[in-house]
Amino acid sequence: MSGNTVRLNAISAITSTPTVESGFDFVSSPTSSVWGDNVFSLNEMEQRLPKAIFKSLKKTITSGEELDPTTADAVAEAMKTWAISKGVTHYAHVFYPLTGLTAEKHDSFFDPDGNGGTIATFAGKALIQGEPDGSSFPNGGIRQTFEARGYTIWDVTSPAYIIENPNGTTLCIPTAFVSWTGEALDKKTPVLRSMQALNEHAQRVLKFFGTDGPFISSSAGAEQEYFLVDNHFYYARPDLLAAGRTLFGSPPPKGQEFDDHYFGAIPERVQAFMFEVERECFKLGIPAKTRHNEVAPGQFELAPVYEMANVATDHQQLVMTTLRKVATKYGMTCLLHEKPFAGVNGSGKHVNFSMGSSKAGNLFDPGDTPAENAQFVVFCAAMISSVYKHAKLLRSVVASASNDHRLGANEAPPAILSVFLGTELYEVMESIVNGSPITSKRVPLNLGVDVLPSIPKDSGDRNRTSPMAFTGNRFEFRAVGSNQSIAGPMVAMNTIMAEALDEAATLLEAADTSSTEKLGAAVADYVKKVWGECSNVVFNGDGYADEWQTEAARRGLPNLVTTPDALGVLKEQTYIDLFAKYEVLSERELDSRYEVYAEQYISAVNVESNLVVEIARTMVFPAAIRYQGQMASSLASLKTIGVETDHDTISTLTALIKKLQDSVAGLEALKAKEHDADSVAAHCFMIKDEILPKMLEVRGHVDALEAIVADDLWPLPTYQEMLYIR
Ligand code: ADP
Ligand code: MG
Repeated sequence: MSGNTVRLNAISAITSTPTVESGFDFVSSPTSSVWGDNVFSLNEMEQRLPKAIFKSLKKTITSGEELDPTTADAVAEAMKTWAISKGVTHYAHVFYPLTGLTAEKHDSFFDPDGNGGTIATFAGKALIQGEPDGSSFPNGGIRQTFEARGYTIWDVTSPAYIIENPNGTTLCIPTAFVSWTGEALDKKTPVLRSMQALNEHAQRVLKFFGTDGPFISSSAGAEQEYFLVDNHFYYARPDLLAAGRTLFGSPPPKGQEFDDHYFGAIPERVQAFMFEVERECFKLGIPAKTRHNEVAPGQFELAPVYEMANVATDHQQLVMTTLRKVATKYGMTCLLHEKPFAGVNGSGKHVNFSMGSSKAGNLFDPGDTPAENAQFVVFCAAMISSVYKHAKLLRSVVASASNDHRLGANEAPPAILSVFLGTELYEVMESIVNGSPITSKRVPLNLGVDVLPSIPKDSGDRNRTSPMAFTGNRFEFRAVGSNQSIAGPMVAMNTIMAEALDEAATLLEAADTSSTEKLGAAVADYVKKVWGECSNVVFNGDGYADEWQTEAARRGLPNLVTTPDALGVLKEQTYIDLFAKYEVLSERELDSRYEVYAEQYISAVNVESNLVVEIARTMVFPAAIRYQGQMASSLASLKTIGVETDHDTISTLTALIKKLQDSVAGLEALKAKEHDADSVAAHCFMIKDEILPKMLEVRGHVDALEAIVADDLWPLPTYQEMLYIR
């Protein structure tokens, strides 16, 4: 009688784990003393580089101007000296392939000097360009293995940093990854290109307000949600280990219905973990700011202060890496999957988006003067217009097998993209359009001469159900998945804003703007045009409500429920043209992304369906059979002593075992048919329409068995245990 020892041992191991030992001393080693310690920052450069070189480099970093290649040798030398002084032995070009992960290839600084010794070398060329063997990264057909050369190219605008390991440290240099023909094989290149496009058209608009000049860059602040699970449970769940989510498990007796976890006291071990995560972030110059419990038990959030889009994107990848790495030190695993547990909230990543420059300020911030307000109104209208026109694109850049479980599940915004403005901003827009006074008392009326009303600051309300909410001085894109790179969303938002600003600028350029009043009127005309065409996308109500689905359909807003629907958007001519026009992605580059993301969807579900078969067969079925055997022999023994008991439980159990076997066999038969799909798209739809429902059917039987089979025989750590024991 083996019973199930793994699960029960896990529980006893965790409950006897000693409490966290104290580690950090913020008096002798305050946060300010470690901040940016591992970053080759502007300060560090200024101290180590000749003045002229520093000036030229800084210009590139802050204004997006092209890098003067003659500075590379000097920068490389300074970077090397700094790194070696900090004990670094290797450098790595870090890049961001289409997998959404981070990739790196390490090289030693040290070469033989020919005399039996060694010399540290790092030439400008090695800094600027690397040649990793990138042939095994997905490229969606851009590169054949016979032309495998791909180059990594230094991204001057994202600072180099040092990653520590107990046995040594590595200098990491953020790079773009391109094919030898110059096509983007990565997530960074299009982010940089889209920022250029956004800047170009924002400048055209800002000219009218006299705030043009300094580079307009978009900013992102990404709130990261995650779960923590004790390693003992994690390693006892092959589904968590290989797929990042539980494929089986019935809801815990106590779920999240009491709302007692959200913002509650953070458990000690978790808080210790958070301190270390933040300290690691600070060393890397990542401005981690907010930490709290999230809605589901075992769920938490980390939010940094926003940064320039490109740096924020790189830092976001580092945040995910750091969360995972530090969790293991505390005997836990950080789950970044969008839906690790059915029936409790999943994890998202709210990407807060704004744009601006030192001169123009934050362009989503209502100003104090009518001129500032006019500028704000144009950018807001452009945002509304871009979301209306490209809702489908925004849906497609957050599409993944895992995020499908979350979007629209009454915990996350629906797959319908709408914009929440809040009552005040809504009234402002309406009053501009109708030329009517504003009724809300909180909005000071100032329509007469200036045409445009003044707008109170922080006019955004709170609406948790909107996928794109105005929150006072930024738009918060809430449909992004917890596990996703924010590069895709940034590329999409930058590019569609570039297009909307292009349109706005073209209108203003054609209008008479010779006086403040006339400019005001031209701005009002633009707002009217946008409102007339696009106000359908504005929705201030409850995005989780069923009525919204009906209402959105009536308004003609797209509702691409699943990834196979949403990815198809990347094949549409509109998007081929849009990305080509703003020089963000060529047709081939866009197509390659479709191929890679569709393949990822297929692979992700494939791993899951394999696991469903394996776990059902080798863990659940044996447990059920054991229990059946035990029960059968008890019933038989009882019978020999003349006790008749009813056979309801064993009948139910036997029926469930049969259903389990049949559904697993059914799933296998479907999987065997997958090869027949004659295109990637057909394959995706087959997965969505046939495989995933069948997996759910198996799950139904397994979860029913969990409710019957003796607890000491059940092999998989339960939801109750994973969510509540820590
Ligand atoms: P909430 O949960 O209420 O949305 P948080 O404090 O958790 O608020 O996160 C807010 C996020 O918005 C942070 O990452 C913050 O840096 C970011 N943010 C704030 N202002 C801006 C802005 N102007 N542009 C981009 N992001 C911003
Ligand atoms: Mg938040």
